[in-house]
Amino acid sequence: MKQITLHWQHGDADGHGSFKEGERVLIGRKADCALVMPSSDRRIHRQHAEVVWKGSTPQLRNLGANPIRLPKRGLALQRGQTAALHTDDAFQLGEVEVFVMISAGAKKVRMLRCHHCERIQPYKPEAMCVQCGFALAGADTVIVDPSQHDSAS
Ligand SMILES: [Zn+2]
Repeated sequence: MKQITLHWQHGDADGHGSFKEGERVLIGRKADCALVMPSSDRRIHRQHAEVVWKGSTPQLRNLGANPIRLPKRGLALQRGQTAALHTDDAFQLGEVEVFVMISAGAKKVRMLRCHHCERIQPYKPEAMCVQCGFALAGADTVIVDPSQHDSAS
């Protein structure tokens, strides 16, 4: 399960977000975009771009009339055009550059297994088992991969 992190900086303002594989990421000036761009740059549309996933590769698509430039690759995406994104890519909306990092994604997380009923639950050694009320102080620590946990449920 991969994850994409997008980061922009413009003057004193900046914004960033990390999104999981398969998650659609809307980018623009509109406040409810997943990645909100600075409203001072009027060349950025309210909904200017989206990232959609093709398998484990994120793809950038231009939703607006103004082009999206990928200066390092000499590309300019017009409305409806897409480009695969790779780590260390950067693309430009208006004059704001957005930096791309793609990582292996969700970290494994620590959980506790109750000694009494064996239920796996959040890591709170000071708490009681949510199922049977047994103290979790002596429970076993287990490491789970949340992405596998999700697909199993
Ligand atoms: Zn229990």
